Amino acid sequence: MVEVLFSLKNVLVVSLAMNMCLLWQISYFYYYYYDDVDALRITSSSSFWNTSSWRARLHSPPPSSSSATHQNNNNNNNICLNNNNHDDGCHNNNNNKLRKTDENSELPPTATTSFSSTPAPTPDGGESRVINLDHGDPTMYENFWKHKEETTVVTSSWQHISYFSDVTNVCWFLEPQLVSAITRLHNVVGNAVTEGHHIVVGTGSSQLYQAAIYALSSPYVSGPTNVVSAAPFYSSYPLMTDYLKSGLHKWAGDANVFNKEEPYIELVTSPNNPDGFTRQDVVKGDKGILIHDLAYYWPQYTPIVLAADYDIMLFTVSKSTGHAGSRIGWALVKDREIAKKMTAFIEINTIGVSKDSQIRAAKILQTVADTCDHAHQKQSESFFDFSYKLMTERWNKIREAVNKTELFSLPYFPVETCAFSGRTFGQLPAFAWLKCEKVGDCESFLRKHKIHTRGGKHFGASTEYVRISMLSRDSEFELLTQRLPAIIS
Ligand code: PMP
Repeated sequence: MVEVLFSLKNVLVVSLAMNMCLLWQISYFYYYYYDDVDALRITSSSSFWNTSSWRARLHSPPPSSSSATHQNNNNNNNICLNNNNHDDGCHNNNNNKLRKTDENSELPPTATTSFSSTPAPTPDGGESRVINLDHGDPTMYENFWKHKEETTVVTSSWQHISYFSDVTNVCWFLEPQLVSAITRLHNVVGNAVTEGHHIVVGTGSSQLYQAAIYALSSPYVSGPTNVVSAAPFYSSYPLMTDYLKSGLHKWAGDANVFNKEEPYIELVTSPNNPDGFTRQDVVKGDKGILIHDLAYYWPQYTPIVLAADYDIMLFTVSKSTGHAGSRIGWALVKDREIAKKMTAFIEINTIGVSKDSQIRAAKILQTVADTCDHAHQKQSESFFDFSYKLMTERWNKIREAVNKTELFSLPYFPVETCAFSGRTFGQLPAFAWLKCEKVGDCESFLRKHKIHTRGGKHFGASTEYVRISMLSRDSEFELLTQRLPAIIS
């Protein structure tokens, strides 16, 4: 009798445990599926793959309780950085511990995903909220793309299986659709000459930068090739140049002070990250090769004064259309041998570039070009009109905020007429290069006021400066312009 009762109890305990497990799985499935509907829609159209995708979700680790509490209705996951603060709603999904941030890179390699897009409003109207504008995440563009249903890309599971795209092209993994879209958009905007250039696609222009310095560094000279850029320079360049400790190239710092009689590669970022100014090469030696990083040479940031026609030009959807998560960049390269070497680098590095991303990028670039067509423009605002107006509005607001206090200052830019839009204006950079007029360490000073920025030293400049992203969502930008003038000391 006792034995029967004992086994009955065991059966009950096991079945209770199974039911709880089933309930947890159902609620977890519900949580994931409904939090991320858009992502599923573009993943695949086939019902088989949708089912497996759900299954994959069911088997991933559950969100931590704190992430779940911060969940809101927004479908977009938010990139959270480690700020050593727990009050920004950003926690590691798996174990709730904050991770270490690489403070020099554009995005921290250890960035974690949280389920909170906008932290819950605080009782003090946002004063205790951390405003993280250290990174240049282009979420500002979401509002434009939310109204562009026609850019949704549906990919069937049988598509994009091959490694190869067009074996007749120097860059054999480049999708022909992307070639057409890139060529068309440059022709419409008039910001770069595509004719006489080979297109090389990369996983972001970051990969293309690495491919370019690989291709330009000769293994046959005695030492590594010097890589320089005029300070303040983009903070990822030194990292990307040196992190493999390659014998091919080495970061040699500020181009303004480079005076060695040795081969060098000079990076010309125009408009520049972090300070927004347009630039030309500075070393002007006879042993140099130039790479032009034109990530911001688009009409929402700067007047387009000529079609750039340099030997190597780098572009990216991250900053042109705001699709940083697609990780697509392209290089326009005059010399066929250099284009081949860059392609070889990417072949060894990642055996090509995601076709799904290329197709998505092609669709987006074609849509941007469509919105610029006059016939089309009558029906809706062009992408560049939308983004130019938003940047103008944001720059007016930040200047107004900074002018209310003597603690800070911003650079001023000369005005020019844009050949694309016909508008006359000064730069509207993607970053504000803010100077603290009364303190030496501007980054720490602003951090005390819960504004996270990237300090001047990361860009080879004075610590009196910080770089602030101008491309955040509206709510963060608004909070910044309220908080800056309220700072007294
Ligand atoms: N170059 C510059 C000047 C940049 O600012 C950035 C992005 N911050 C990049 C390159 C890298 O862009 P991607 O996301 O395409 O790697």
